[in-house]
Amino acid sequence: MSSSTPLTVGFVGLGHMGGPMAANLVKAGHRVRGYDLVAESLEAAEAAGVEPAASAADAATGADVVVTMLPAGRHVLALYRDEGLLAAAAPGTLFVDCSTIDVADARAAHEAAVAAGHQALDAPVSGGVAGAEAGTLTFMAGGGEAEFARAEPLLAVMGKKTVHCGGPGAGQAAKICNNMILGISMIAVSEAFVLGESLGLSHQALFDVASTASGQCWSLTSNCPVPGPVPASPANRDYRPGFAAPLMAKDLGLAADALRASGIDSAFGIEAAKRYAEYAAGAGATEDFSGIIREIRETITERNETAS
Ligand code: NAD
Repeated sequence: MSSSTPLTVGFVGLGHMGGPMAANLVKAGHRVRGYDLVAESLEAAEAAGVEPAASAADAATGADVVVTMLPAGRHVLALYRDEGLLAAAAPGTLFVDCSTIDVADARAAHEAAVAAGHQALDAPVSGGVAGAEAGTLTFMAGGGEAEFARAEPLLAVMGKKTVHCGGPGAGQAAKICNNMILGISMIAVSEAFVLGESLGLSHQALFDVASTASGQCWSLTSNCPVPGPVPASPANRDYRPGFAAPLMAKDLGLAADALRASGIDSAFGIEAAKRYAEYAAGAGATEDFSGIIREIRETITERNETAS
């Protein structure tokens, strides 16, 4: 399966991410038969050249590869097991799930696909809607070598980098571990800026030092939570996403579940999940995840006022 071989792709879940990903497959010359529960999403995909299917199972019928891009593990498992997606596909079809889901759910999805006579790969992404539109996503893949090799030409159309992380579930594991680093580091950077403010340190001075010293990290140098030092960061546009806080809360929730299931006592991972869940349920519902600095500043100020 070279990158130039046109394939028939069944694509289920044509939302913010899936819609542009499917459109890029069409642009690369593949035949894409898509389905989404939301009529507007299906219509937008059709305008981009996706052939609308009558159901998810219909999208899988006659496909070489079935890609899913769904909200959570329960949607993937329901489609695979109960709603006929696996049963509708010809034996040996490759199922690639790009949704961000629980590692255990990803492994269960693999098992169900293999039991039905198919191949499976988990391939969650980072890069957001902008990356999906530009075809510059990063894919983190979990599954066998043969499955990875078969999927790679399609993933290369939708992304700029693909890492084979290991066996079933390894892609999801890499995704949640990376985002646990990101969530914790954003809180650390935010607390440091709030401390700097109370010590009379300008944002720019702290940035100039930390961005070239050992405090350097993506949360500081690319997505700086205060306006000014990094002009492209969401802080300069009132925290319009970017990477929306509810998505960070979802990913940290998956990380926290995995920590508990593994018996790992990670105080910071669990605390970051709690903080982002609270933030996303309130002001953060429509904000970039770096906006959590405002909650941190408020919480610290309130604590100080109560103490004095
Ligand atoms: P979305 O809600 O925009 O899209 C999901 C789509 O799935 C919706 O259009 C929904 O109607 C459809 N759907 C749900 N159940 C279905 C079913 N049974 N049959 C057919 N369609 C069904 O979400 P999104 O932002 O596109 O995210 C998709 C996945 O990608 C999520 O797992 C998310 O965590 C992950 N992700 C998102 C981003 C991002 O920036 N949006 C970045 C990285 C990863």
